[in-house]
Amino acid sequence: HWSRICERLKAEVGEVEYRTWLRQITVGPVEEDEITLYLPTRFLRDWVRGQYGDRLGTLWNAEVPAIRRVELQVARPGAAPATPPTDGAEAPATLAAARGDAAPRPAAPAPVAEEPRHAEVRSDLAAPLDPRFTFDTFVVGKPNEFAYACARRVAERPSSPGFNPLFLYGGVGLGKTHLMHAIGAELLREGRVSVAYMSAEKFMYRFIAAIRSQSTMEFKEQLRSVDVLMIDDLQFLIGKDNTQEEFFHTFNALVDAGRQIVVSADKSPSDLSGLEDRLRTRLGCGMVADIHATTFELRISILEAKASASGVIVPAKVLEFLAHKITSNVRELEGALNRLIAHANLFGRPVTLEATQDVLHDILKAHDRRVTIEEIQRKVAEHWNIRLTDMSSARRARAVARPRQVAMYLAKQLTSRSLPEIGRKFGNRDHTTVMHAVTRVTELMEQDPAFAEDVELLRRMLES
Ligand code: ADP
Ligand code: MG
Repeated sequence: HWSRICERLKAEVGEVEYRTWLRQITVGPVEEDEITLYLPTRFLRDWVRGQYGDRLGTLWNAEVPAIRRVELQVARPGAAPATPPTDGAEAPATLAAARGDAAPRPAAPAPVAEEPRHAEVRSDLAAPLDPRFTFDTFVVGKPNEFAYACARRVAERPSSPGFNPLFLYGGVGLGKTHLMHAIGAELLREGRVSVAYMSAEKFMYRFIAAIRSQSTMEFKEQLRSVDVLMIDDLQFLIGKDNTQEEFFHTFNALVDAGRQIVVSADKSPSDLSGLEDRLRTRLGCGMVADIHATTFELRISILEAKASASGVIVPAKVLEFLAHKITSNVRELEGALNRLIAHANLFGRPVTLEATQDVLHDILKAHDRRVTIEEIQRKVAEHWNIRLTDMSSARRARAVARPRQVAMYLAKQLTSRSLPEIGRKFGNRDHTTVMHAVTRVTELMEQDPAFAEDVELLRRMLES
């Protein structure tokens, strides 16, 4: 059975992946509906479980229907069955003995053939930087100006006290990777320092590969020889305790040696539950910079910059339309604009609002909000703890008037209702009142980040 499963896996994942991870598996005992598979180290076990666990279960079940579960355990390859494995708690032999299990012990796997040591770990420590991601191409606005300033500062003077580590965090597609690459590009342009940039996932992959090829010392030395180490999307290390441990040591060694660390994640250090406390503490020790959700204004600036770089003339009306419709993240916004530009270039036709709606039909549909004004009123009233009836009442007290204005603003943004229609739903108010509300809320959001955050939060809740 196993050799057939192996053939399937090899066909699915490719020779290299198969050789790196899956070939290390040894088949253990079957107990009721569960089969135990052994891997030589915890790292391999965790990796295989995370990457291939479900697939292994499915394949075994297809091969032997009685098997419904796959248990992955650590066992030293080549160890005689009776030898207690190193990881006591996870020792299959001990466990089986304790259960009085009569199932056959795993046969000693054939000795792993000597493989040529791979040069992969030493060859390309730094992932290539995307040449498009520079400080010049990063559009700065209220939501990202602090993170931008910190990134610039680190690129100018790495390892300044107070800026080490630099921890950048924010939602998907808001520019974390862009800023990290920009730091790298700037430092390399100056040519004074060595830089290593990689995703946390790659870090883990490299680390495990180093263990496998018994070159962890070299890996560590390489890491510890860089002046600036940047690790992207650190949240990937949640639950990967061994890699976290290794990262923590590398981190400490580098900071102690006066090197700069830059890390990004989707949450702040304190919200990254699942990372070890001491690591979170150290991550929060330098500069922590948040990239906030984009505002309408920033989206417009980004679109303007990208449109003008493309050389295609995109009317302001189209840019505004896109900035209103696609609010989730910059990547999607960019994707939509790129498609428009490609289309214009291909057919040599000017970009119009009609053409936009046509070309981006599918994207826009996904972003179509079917939120009703009533829903908006309800959510906003709940949020500020006022009565729903006050959305249409004549009361002018600020505590009531401000939420009402926010609800009007959101109604304008999230529905396709006209100003007079919106006015009618708010106690028959005039369309100029709605217009005023939209302007006022926009102004306030620019002046008061906390307020802007509130409104964006409401918007996100309504959109989801
Ligand atoms: P994250 O890493 O936070 O998920 P990225 O850095 O990959 O996001 O950004 C997604 C895309 O949006 C990239 O193409 C990036 O260049 C672009 N982008 C994000 N923020 C900005 C910005 N402020 N100015 C210009 N482009 C941006
Ligand atoms: Mg990223």
